[in-house]
Amino acid sequence: MSQNQSPKPVYRAYALHNFRKLPQVADRLDERTLHEIEVVGHVLPFKVNNYVADELIDWDHIPDDPIYRLTFPHRDMLSEAHFALMERTLKETADKVERRKVANQIRLELNPHPAGQMSHNVPELNGIKLTGMQHKYRETVLFFPQQGQTCHAYCSFCFRWPQFVGMDELKFAMREAELLVAYLKAHPEVTDLLITGGDPMVMKAHRLRACLEPLLEADLPHLRNIRIGSKALAYWPYRFLTDDDADEVLRLFERVVQSGKHLAFMAHFNHPRELQPEAVRRAIARIRNTGAEIRTQSPLLRHINDDAGAWAAMWREQVKLGCVPYYMFVVRDTGAHDYFAVPLAEAHQIYRDAYRQVSGLARTVRGPSMSAHPGKVCVLGTTRVAGEKLFVLTFIQARNPEWVGRPFFARYDEQATWLDELEPAFGHPAFFFEAELMAGQSLN
Ligand SMILES: *Cc1c(COP(=O)(O)O)cnc(C)c1O
Ligand code: SF4
Repeated sequence: MSQNQSPKPVYRAYALHNFRKLPQVADRLDERTLHEIEVVGHVLPFKVNNYVADELIDWDHIPDDPIYRLTFPHRDMLSEAHFALMERTLKETADKVERRKVANQIRLELNPHPAGQMSHNVPELNGIKLTGMQHKYRETVLFFPQQGQTCHAYCSFCFRWPQFVGMDELKFAMREAELLVAYLKAHPEVTDLLITGGDPMVMKAHRLRACLEPLLEADLPHLRNIRIGSKALAYWPYRFLTDDDADEVLRLFERVVQSGKHLAFMAHFNHPRELQPEAVRRAIARIRNTGAEIRTQSPLLRHINDDAGAWAAMWREQVKLGCVPYYMFVVRDTGAHDYFAVPLAEAHQIYRDAYRQVSGLARTVRGPSMSAHPGKVCVLGTTRVAGEKLFVLTFIQARNPEWVGRPFFARYDEQATWLDELEPAFGHPAFFFEAELMAGQSLN
């Protein structure tokens, strides 16, 4: 596996303490913008790196540039009141503990744990809570390896943000791959394991091996698919090209494929720009050469990709590069949600306008989909029945597999951005799944 001749790119991270040293920031941002980044960055996570700054952000078009919006804090990501409170606190005290107290107070008002993700889906084995795992849907288990709980850069919309600002420190994480194997052995209904984070691809190859090898060595015929959720192709493609253990990572992928399991690399891309650099294209080709399949997903985000043309371009390019478009998500109701939210009606319009533009090979994508407490709810469209304007919805995934694929209706609401803002159609008191959902709280 020969490398190119250019010098090996060295990863450099920039966060609140050093972002002013980033050459483009020093050159282009005025003092007021720097101040706003500092205020917002004390509440929401902020990390960017040299690849994102050099290859992805178009500095001639800041602050509207989509990748700049994706990675840099913006004043409007906080409400006037929260911004003013954090700003005043920074001015009045240099005491870290005091600043943190105020920041946490604001964070708690930003719905840090939507969809019951912390409390509802943690599985148990012989009475032990497996805090590094989630098991919400029958066939898929999520695993959060302890060393993979960060990313090469942070997305300003991230729904896992509480863990990056130290609110949820390591609550998710679990060191023992043996417990994972034991749990899977005890659950023959599980066909899929999704290794996620943060970004598991920030892990060194030997750590990734420590997660994957026990799974291959254990006798788990029911485990068919191993997925790795990652944004590394977009934020640091050199992970698969020139990092010291890049080849070792790819050999590990090959070994998973050779063991007879399907390896699905679930790549997170938010904008077609992220597919343009030569480095990401070569990284995609190298991953595909191992026999792994790359599937792609992203939320729909105001200021970043709220445009059918961007989605169509992204899906087309992905298919051309051999990736399979998988999900368009509705951005979750947490963190800077007001800043990024796109109403469901508009989201569906964008989805449809994009879907219509691409060939059947890109129409593997589904959405817009909300990962809500009862399941993944997809907006199929809008219609009118007996004079009432409606949303047609369906479950792509559900706590109860019986709910999947059954269309249901909600009253049309042009402003609604999430399932909990929708009301059942035809004057029904509740959606069909609600009584069972309330009764089944023990069901993880
Ligand atoms: C999306 C998701 C999965 C995977 O669902 P698929 O439809 O199989 O991709 C599994 N667990 C959770 C909690 C999820 O949100
Ligand atoms: S890559 Fe994923 S986990 Fe990491 S910051 Fe972005 S959305 Fe969050």
